[in-house]
Amino acid sequence: MQQYIDQLNEAQRAPVLQKDGPMIVIAGAGSGKTRVLTMRIAYLMSQGVDAFNILALTFTNKAAREMKTRIAGIVGNNEAKNLWMGTFHSIFAKILRIEADKLGYPSNFTIYDTQDSVRLIGAIIKEMQLDKDVYKPKQVLGRISQYKNSLITVRAYFNNPELQEADAMSKKPRLGEIYENYVERCFKSGAMDFDDLLLKTNELLNRFPDVLAKYQDRFRYILVDEYQDTNHSQYLIVRALSDRFQNICVVGDDAQSIYAFRGANINNILNFQKDYDGVKMYRLEQNYRSTRNIVEAANNVIDKNKTKLEKVVWTDNAEGPKIKVHRSLTDGEEGRFVASTIFEQKMQHQLPNSHFAVLYRTNAQSRSIEDALRKRDIPYRIYGGLSFYQRKEIKDVLAYLRLIINPKDEEALVRVINYPARGIGDTTVEKLTVAANHYKRSIFEIMEHIDKIDLRLNSGTKAKLNDFVTMIKSFQVINENQDAFYLAEHVTKKTGLVQELKKDGTPEGIARIENIEELLNGIKDFIEGQKEVDGARGALSEFLEDVALVTDLDKDTGDDDRVALMTIHLAKGLEFPHVFIVGMEEDLFPSAMSMNTRSELEEERRLFYVALTRAEHQAYLTYAQSRYRWGKLVDSEPSRFIEEIDDRYLEHLNMETNTSYRYKPMMDVDIFGEVDKSKLRLSKPVSSTPPKYITDQEPQKPNIRKLKPVSGIKTQGNANLFDNNLVVGNIVMHERFGKGQIVSLEGVGADRKAEIRFEVGGLKKLLLKFAKLEVI
Ligand code: ATP
Ligand code: MG
Repeated sequence: MQQYIDQLNEAQRAPVLQKDGPMIVIAGAGSGKTRVLTMRIAYLMSQGVDAFNILALTFTNKAAREMKTRIAGIVGNNEAKNLWMGTFHSIFAKILRIEADKLGYPSNFTIYDTQDSVRLIGAIIKEMQLDKDVYKPKQVLGRISQYKNSLITVRAYFNNPELQEADAMSKKPRLGEIYENYVERCFKSGAMDFDDLLLKTNELLNRFPDVLAKYQDRFRYILVDEYQDTNHSQYLIVRALSDRFQNICVVGDDAQSIYAFRGANINNILNFQKDYDGVKMYRLEQNYRSTRNIVEAANNVIDKNKTKLEKVVWTDNAEGPKIKVHRSLTDGEEGRFVASTIFEQKMQHQLPNSHFAVLYRTNAQSRSIEDALRKRDIPYRIYGGLSFYQRKEIKDVLAYLRLIINPKDEEALVRVINYPARGIGDTTVEKLTVAANHYKRSIFEIMEHIDKIDLRLNSGTKAKLNDFVTMIKSFQVINENQDAFYLAEHVTKKTGLVQELKKDGTPEGIARIENIEELLNGIKDFIEGQKEVDGARGALSEFLEDVALVTDLDKDTGDDDRVALMTIHLAKGLEFPHVFIVGMEEDLFPSAMSMNTRSELEEERRLFYVALTRAEHQAYLTYAQSRYRWGKLVDSEPSRFIEEIDDRYLEHLNMETNTSYRYKPMMDVDIFGEVDKSKLRLSKPVSSTPPKYITDQEPQKPNIRKLKPVSGIKTQGNANLFDNNLVVGNIVMHERFGKGQIVSLEGVGADRKAEIRFEVGGLKKLLLKFAKLEVI
């Protein structure tokens, strides 16, 4: 252990070695807060604290896994395995399952994801015959989420005239009723949404002193990372659990508080000292992550905020290169700059893709970056957006699995009762829903008793409903005797899901089948992993819980080498050698929606601070002079945040003169996606000089209107520009088969193949070495 302690600096060592009592570590980015937390856990264990008595709460499950691995390296795997570590949601979902009956929930309750919640709220709004343009389901969910995270239950809402007035003022006088209906429907479905996992935990700890005492006794040491972003509900849980032993260690940085818009409360950090007696406060000042240039520029940024705790951050690291600022004419060109730069850096310095990250303010910005990376054949992974588990076909399979575990799950039932089509129409489902609401039962229970309730359904429909119930029950029997993989495979066949997609026969249909196979693989992996741990059977319910709480960052297996694309919010806590912050424009970053008050603007600035401090070696700030937003080309100004950084930390790549400078990529891709091979410079010896940014002899006169549709080409495949200049979406002519469109491309060199849908003859896969194709 000592050798690990020796690797810490003195300021870091103090909070690690202080075994007991409440403590808070406040420190800037990259100063080792997460490292302190990790070492502290290892140290506690080395001092004889039982792993079962330690609870560590992290921002993602991935962060928890990494911490656990590191600790296992110090104290041994067998011990580390027993630590309670994870996100608030995953840890408290586990506890809620154990205690569910106390709250009237089944222990196999379903966890509704945001999509489920939005759909249910949409349905309620429709049933209440409200205008969905006034009551927008997503907005309504946001409001309900706010209430839940502030522990305002339905009853508390109706007891509070001010809240009701506020909703009435914002033209939503019936919000309370929607809230009430939503809560009832979730309960009836045996389902909790994400916010319930915290709200119900609070309820559990408040209402049942014996339960509280049990967990207080279990979690004798509690540690929280990223404490600045805890919301009120999370704060109360931590406070309740730590109340008895008061061995609580939280680490955070007020300058990185970026979730106020979701209810995170910076006061949690500011008030910590008032909440406990004898709080020890520690500060870390040395940044180990970034170059001096980046650290000083980041200090420069955050200095502009008025509301902040005074902090010092310095580094011993080398000065490093200046932050590079790049201006483009359009977002398409911005994407090409990013891709070209990554390409050159990789070539010149033999770097892996995983050394690069592209961060943006909004998810929509990823599209132009993706297009450019694909054209360069640079593999990337997008975090956020539509994740694997949100895809339709995956949600369909999961819905069946969810129903097996919890037949009351209304969202799952509505999703698959008539998919694949089995003749149960919308009117029937509506009748069932009305009956379910009337009898305060789940739809499934109504279906089980369909012969006893008069819903004016004809006998054919009743038979179909009975068949569905029988099918689900037969799956339940299998679930009792077989593992989750066997069951899931059986379900995909028996329900006709896979056949339905096979019938479809399109490439999209095939891709969907592949996704389902991938899901089955995932289930297999999961149960194998479980068997390893404790010889368990591989229960379906545990798999479903794992899936429900997976965040986008968690899926990163770490073994594939890709450029990371994500929003800045998701990048919190991470680090990369090279970081591009794109879309540095007024109204985009800072966001137009967050410039109304000083506090909103300060949150945007903290977000920029988070973005900049992710970079270890080189940061790039890029902006475009015009960009497509909401389908229109709009002019934009550079972000004020660029100006706020002292010029001595910046290098403007193309601002020195008035002539139009343009980044010259190693390989020129013209606006039609074709490669000018004469400009290929790949055979040139690799030099160690930084990428060159050279002027055009002739100032370029881009035709923006012409540029745009081309960058909008759907290039979903992996166009390999070294072998040919085909991209997915190209219309081509084949000597024998005639006209067709490229659907996908795969392989390299002599193995390069294209899948083409011909107007006559349908889908064919051709080896490009032989196929004589002409792009038309
Ligand atoms: P953030 O605020 O972004 O979450 P942090 O304060 O949690 O940052 P860490 O991620 O713990 O900082 O540390 C930043 C980097 O510095 C990591 O790569 C870590 O391994 C390294 N580091 C921290 N402390 C030391 C040290 N004493 N010696 C060497 N490297 C260190
Ligand atoms: Mg950290």
